[in-house]
Amino acid sequence: MTYDRNNVFARILRGEIPCKKVYEDEHVLAFDDISARAPTHVLVIPKGEYVSLDDFSANASEAEIAALARALGRIARERGVAESGYRVIANNGPAAHQEVPHFHVHLLGGRDLGGMLPRR
Ligand code: AMP
Repeated sequence: MTYDRNNVFARILRGEIPCKKVYEDEHVLAFDDISARAPTHVLVIPKGEYVSLDDFSANASEAEIAALARALGRIARERGVAESGYRVIANNGPAAHQEVPHFHVHLLGGRDLGGMLPRR
């Protein structure tokens, strides 16, 4: 899948749309989800143009991959959910109902999040 430079997260990265920034470094931006599903619902995104986890893991540098993992842990600690528990989710592609075609990881916490997925 080719990267769509007009997706909403690309526009946030270019500063064309505002966001509630939680964390930023050379490789990563993190901001509050506009439609939060939990008291903590942060989206952690690479600054590079990657559509999905498989794209990111195949094409990003070691530094970009490390930065994303470190940002997730850091935000979990800073938001105070590391002790109580939290969840990270990355929706990739149609079966996962990925809405925004820029790779992102949801970090959710601050309440009991229930079981992982309903069984079918
Ligand atoms: P996904 O289904 O994993 O692609 O999730 C996309 C997420 O992006 C949803 O949880 C949306 O609420 C969130 N979202 C969409 N537009 C914005 C925005 N402008 N600022 C922050 N979050 C957004």
